[in-house]
Amino acid sequence: MLIDLHTHSRRSDGTDGPTELVENAARAGLDVVALTDHDAMTGWAEAQAAADRVGITLVKGLEISCRYRDKGVHLLGYEPDPTDPSLLGELDRVLRGRQDRLPKTIARLQDLGIAITEADVLAVSGDAAATGRPHVADALIVMGVVATRDEAFERYLMPGRPAYVDRYAADLEEMIRLLVDAGGRPVIAHPWTRQSRSVLTEDVVAGLAELGLVGLEVDHNDHDAGTRTRLREIARELDLVVTGSSDYHGTGKVGYDLGVNTTAPDQAVRLLEDRVTLNR
Ligand code: AMP
Ligand code: ZN
Ligand code: FE
Ligand code: FE
Repeated sequence: MLIDLHTHSRRSDGTDGPTELVENAARAGLDVVALTDHDAMTGWAEAQAAADRVGITLVKGLEISCRYRDKGVHLLGYEPDPTDPSLLGELDRVLRGRQDRLPKTIARLQDLGIAITEADVLAVSGDAAATGRPHVADALIVMGVVATRDEAFERYLMPGRPAYVDRYAADLEEMIRLLVDAGGRPVIAHPWTRQSRSVLTEDVVAGLAELGLVGLEVDHNDHDAGTRTRLREIARELDLVVTGSSDYHGTGKVGYDLGVNTTAPDQAVRLLEDRVTLNR
C-alpha cells in the first residue's frame, strides 16, 4: 500500500487542480494521498469527489505556516474539523498576512525596475486561497524575467534577497493546540530544513509532543540520509509517528514527484486512528 501524506494543489502553490492531483496520484499508483495545501482547506471537497471517482483514499490535511522562536516551521494537520471557529480564525490571520505581503513584494520588485503588478500575480494564482512567493515567481516567468521558480527564489524571493518580505505566521505551540482541539493530528513538516533545524532540538520536540504533536515527517526530499536517521531516532525515543511524503507541487517543484517518499501503513494507521479508513 502506497501512502503519500503531503501534496499541494492550485488552491495554494501547486500547479494541479485538486481533481487533477488526485487523478495523478492514482496514475502514480498511490492508494492513499493527503491534500495539504498551505493554510487552506478549500480543495478538500473537489479532491474528495475525485478520490471517490478514481477509487483512492483521500486524507484531508493542510500545511500551516508557523513560527517558533523567530524561525519558520511548517506544521501539517490531518483531518481537523474544518468548521472549528478557533482554527479558522487563526488561519484567517495567516491568509491576511499573505495578502498584506503581496503589495510589499510587488513594490520591492518595481524598485528593482521590474514592471510587475498585483494583477500579474493574481492572473497566475487563479483560485488559490493562499497566494505565495511561488505565484510571484510564476508571474515573473510569464514576463520572461526568470525561467523557473527556483531562479526567482534564488534571485529575488529567498530571505536575504531584495524582494523578500516577512509575513505573519501562527505560533507553533498554539497551532498544535488548536489542531488538537479541532480533532486534528499535527505533524511537523520537513523538520530539519531551512530555518527550522536550529530550533527544533530533541528537547523542543519533546515539549511539542507533550502539547499533542503526533509525528515527524522524516522522509522528505529536503532531508539527507544522515538527517533522516537522526530524526527517526528522535521519533523512536519520543514515541512519535514517522511519516514520509513527496511535498508534490505539480510542475512547480522538480523532483518532488508523487510517491517519491511514502509513509509506512502502520505509521499511517497510528497517525489517523479511526479518522480515515485505510483499506489494508
Ligand atoms: P510562501 O508560502 O510565500 O512563504 O512561499 C513558500 C513556498 O515556496 C514553499 O512552501 C515552497 O512551496 C516554495 N519554495 C520555497 N523555496 C523555493 C525554491 N527555492 N524554489 C521553488 N519553490 C520554493
Ligand atoms: Zn508550497
Ligand atoms: Fe513546507
Ligand atoms: Fe509543502
